[in-house]
Amino acid sequence: MTGIQWTAWPGRTGETWNPTTGCTRVSAGCDNCYAFTLHDGRFAANLRAADDWLQGRGARELDVKATPPTERIRFARLAEVLLPCAPQYDRPFSEVQVLDDERLEAPLHWREPRAVFVGSMADLFHDDVDDVALDRIFAVMALTPQHEYMLLTKRPERMRDYLDGRRGSREMVRRAVMRLTFDVDVELPPHWDHLANGRVWPLPNVGVMTTTEDQEQADRRVPQLLETPAAWHGLSVEPMLGPIALPYEWLRGERRVGWVIAGGESGARKRVRPFHLEAVRQLRDECAGAGVPFFLKQLGSLPLESGERPPGVKHGHGGRPDEWPTDLGVRQWPAQAHESEPRLQAGAA
Ligand code: SF4
Repeated sequence: MTGIQWTAWPGRTGETWNPTTGCTRVSAGCDNCYAFTLHDGRFAANLRAADDWLQGRGARELDVKATPPTERIRFARLAEVLLPCAPQYDRPFSEVQVLDDERLEAPLHWREPRAVFVGSMADLFHDDVDDVALDRIFAVMALTPQHEYMLLTKRPERMRDYLDGRRGSREMVRRAVMRLTFDVDVELPPHWDHLANGRVWPLPNVGVMTTTEDQEQADRRVPQLLETPAAWHGLSVEPMLGPIALPYEWLRGERRVGWVIAGGESGARKRVRPFHLEAVRQLRDECAGAGVPFFLKQLGSLPLESGERPPGVKHGHGGRPDEWPTDLGVRQWPAQAHESEPRLQAGAA
């Protein structure tokens, strides 16, 4: 279970799932990436512990400064030194890792329906995650139709190329499903016959979203998102760094943006960028006009209204809707899982 509020779809438990970890920055929205900070903080803790050990009795034959950090941690692991953080933090965030089978297979063991944010500590469609790894991840999602999956990426072109079959994904996922059912005690899903025959593709329980921070990135990423075959499409505008207008065709076309999440940036005051409430109101109103569900996650650490911080907002991340201007308390989800065009469901939070 996770505390990320937008994963708490009505009737489902919110969850995160990280079969991969690591990423590299692609645009201004990445500048204060929380996953980068969190991961590299833990990497630094493992390195400190490894160096403490090396500089003591272990370092006699080793020039610590001349040895790369990941090697120093490896030596400590080999000597069974107790390090404070899990092995995935033995490498920096910039080194993308496909994690072990236990993590990959976790959703197979969740019985009750969950709404799953895939890759909260990664970008699944980073080039260093190869297609074989993606096939296995999609196989797990195919085998667990009880869950609704949400894939967010700043690399929608790779996601499109994978999902539209240019890279042979459908057949490879079918094979990966077969391999997984041999390896793990799991039943084939009810729609297996259709899946095996290629009639259930894209997967009905997987929605795809792109993350964008301003109009320039939206103009580049959203058309690629909408070229991607998927059960539904969404847009995450977080951190929102500038106004974003959604053209008519993005909201009302045959493939349309069916959910919008927005939020301000959080973090240290001196680094964080402002979140202009006028801009998010405009985005909210565009969504309302088109019947697209909208979810405001947080105001961030520097919300501004007419150039001033709204007086009632005390929470450090602007994460308490009861402190916001009342008209901004909008938290809506797509109506239900497995609809190709999610409908508006809930009212204000
Ligand atoms: S793409 Fe996402 S995960 Fe990767 S650096 Fe940017 S914000 Fe972080």
